[in-house]
Formats: sequence, structure tokens, C-alpha cells
Amino acid sequence: MPCANDAQIDALPPRENVFTDDHWRVAHAFNSALPGWMVVLPRRHVTALHELDDASVVSLGPLLRDVSGALTRVTGCPKAYLMFFGEAEGFAHLHIHVVPRMPDFLPEVRGPAVFTFLRRSRREWLSDSDLDEISLRVRAELGF
Ligand SMILES: [Zn+2]
Repeated sequence: MPCANDAQIDALPPRENVFTDDHWRVAHAFNSALPGWMVVLPRRHVTALHELDDASVVSLGPLLRDVSGALTRVTGCPKAYLMFFGEAEGFAHLHIHVVPRMPDFLPEVRGPAVFTFLRRSRREWLSDSDLDEISLRVRAELGF
């Protein structure tokens, strides 16, 4: 099924096209106060993991590994969190969060509480230029 999430991919800025292959696109979360918050989206319209076709599933594992590794090198995080919920209004399209778990995270932002970084006021969001800068560094680490 065609999906607005996959429109005009070549026209997207780096923050919305960190990486693209036949099955997946990686973007930086637009509303993040945490640098490096990546979102992995299928190119096809899918709202649940079990709707993915076999080829997408096969390439998902290596992609998640590679994004996690790229984040360690770009942000200095020792590992990345991995989450999919699809509960936010207007965001039913499958999107898998890959989030740097920074060494200085206090207990109140660890684990599921990391979503506090997507609930800050707009003035705490990274600027578009900052998003593009970090996205280009992640892209380079991915060899894209
Ligand atoms: Zn969609």
C-alpha cells in the first residue's frame, strides 16, 4: 500500500533520510531533546510487526545492529534502546525507536522513561541544523 511516510524520499533532508534501502528508511525523531534518537520505518505501509514481508524482516536485524553501532560511535552511548509501540495519535505507521542510552542517564530517564525526551517543550528540541548534522554523521557510519 502506498504511504505518505514514503513520499518523495529523494527530496528529504538528512534528518528525515539518514538511511534508505528497498525496505527501510531511518530518520531522526523530529521532536527529540536527545541527540541521536533514531526511528526505523518500513517503506511500505505497515502498522504491526507481523505485517512485514519476509525480505523486510531479513534486513531488519542487520539494520538495527548497524544503527545501534553507529549511535555508539556518534553519540558515545554504550548501547541503544529498542522500542516499538505505535500508540501516538497519527503515528500508527510502524516505527521502531533506536535510542542512545547515554552514560549519564539518571534513573528517571532510564528504560521506558526515556520517552521523556520526546515530551519536552519545542524550545528544547534539537534544531533542524543540529538534526541534520548528527544525521549526516550517523549516515556516514552506516556507509550510506
Ligand atoms: Zn504508513
